[in-house]
Amino acid sequence: MDAEGNVPNTQLNNAKVVANSSRRRTSPSPAPLEAHEHRESLDTQLQIITRAKLPNRPSSELWDVSVSDGKIASISPHEPLTPVSATRLLDAKGSLLCPSLCHAHIHLDKCFLLQDPKFADLEIVDGDFQEAMKLTTSAKSRFGREDLMRRGRQLVQESIRYGVTSMRAFVEVDGDVDFKCLDAGLALKEEFADRCEVQICAFAQLPLFSGPDGGATVRRLMVQAAEREGVDVVGSTPYVESDGVKENMNIRWLTTLALRHFKHLDFHLDYHLNESKDPTVWNVIRTLDHLHWKHRSSRVITLGHCTRLAFFSPDDWASLRDTISAANLPISFVGLPTSDLFMMRTPQNYRGTLPIPQMIKEYGINAAIAVNNVGNAFTPQGSCDPLTVASLGVGVYQAGTKQDSEILFECISGRAKSAIGLPGTGLDLQEGDLADFVIFGQEDSEWRARKCVSEVIYDPPCQARTTIRSGRVISG
Ligand SMILES: [Zn+2]
Repeated sequence: MDAEGNVPNTQLNNAKVVANSSRRRTSPSPAPLEAHEHRESLDTQLQIITRAKLPNRPSSELWDVSVSDGKIASISPHEPLTPVSATRLLDAKGSLLCPSLCHAHIHLDKCFLLQDPKFADLEIVDGDFQEAMKLTTSAKSRFGREDLMRRGRQLVQESIRYGVTSMRAFVEVDGDVDFKCLDAGLALKEEFADRCEVQICAFAQLPLFSGPDGGATVRRLMVQAAEREGVDVVGSTPYVESDGVKENMNIRWLTTLALRHFKHLDFHLDYHLNESKDPTVWNVIRTLDHLHWKHRSSRVITLGHCTRLAFFSPDDWASLRDTISAANLPISFVGLPTSDLFMMRTPQNYRGTLPIPQMIKEYGINAAIAVNNVGNAFTPQGSCDPLTVASLGVGVYQAGTKQDSEILFECISGRAKSAIGLPGTGLDLQEGDLADFVIFGQEDSEWRARKCVSEVIYDPPCQARTTIRSGRVISG
């Protein structure tokens, strides 16, 4: 990024593409081309990425990664004395190549409200949840196709430049916005189809069973949304219902909708820090079990926020793991620490968020972390860069070891992809893995170039990153 915080438009500032085109065929060793001078080469399928450092391999060694049909065909040590012959070659120049990043949970329709001049009057005064709901509701009443597309496009473009190749994007459906957000989300999904997988979640932020008409309008619109082509997920926020009975009705109704239309299911759940209130997660598992999810669907269930679970004892966690495993359900949790730290506190002013690395390490629970909101009253701080949230995790979770940092990286990469039902690639890159990568560019001083995953997590690089999807260098 530059001094004003802008993400650079050009990628490959450090890595270079060699295009062995016909005019160069006479030269045995063509000089590398600067990518920004030859943008057309960026859309071309790579055959090999040469001279890359790889996670979990000695940082003194460089590797050549060949790509075929969008997957890793081979990984071999780089031989400096043996010229690599390939018509489409990316020279990583010793930079670290990792699996690409993923937003497991991001709100596409309400991003950049604090930056967009159209909503400049909606200033944060109180900075609490009630105000965030009020400001966002007010903004939603003025959403139009133009600003939804402009803000959403900006989010996807910036995310790609940070190394994101897939995301679960929430778009709200209710009587205020009708299908405006959904239509824009579906249009952006199509617009970016060859660069980033934008999974669309039709999302009921408003109650399904409370409110003026008992949620009838939202339910009617959600049914229609679930029938729309391109909608991958249905989601809701049971915690906004007026009482526990309606919360459970919300959970059961949406689960039935997901099963009927063979969609993934996403609940934003237990978003509070009130220890005296029972968590609804148990009811979610019970409902999924009663409705025979494991026999009726191969889709996944994702539970976001769940701050109430921060009060869980070791016995509670073990019980949660055992209950999920006994029901054989593909459930993942997504922690959203940036939002939770800003928005959630106990009456004593303690903060709480899901202890993601602990859930993974000690209990083997599937989990990831995500950005959640960018530029709105729910989370005014932060960017589209998932790495900044993973880096925040070092302090939030006291996760400073090498193993911890690798878990944090996976939480915004392979684990995040798995959490939303996509193939997740681990840090131990293997032949046959998807060729979806992010390469972290070099710094001014060679010794500051990130050599391993922990260096990336401790201090996310601001220099240009190179994003590769299905073996193709992509730009935002
Ligand atoms: Zn959210």
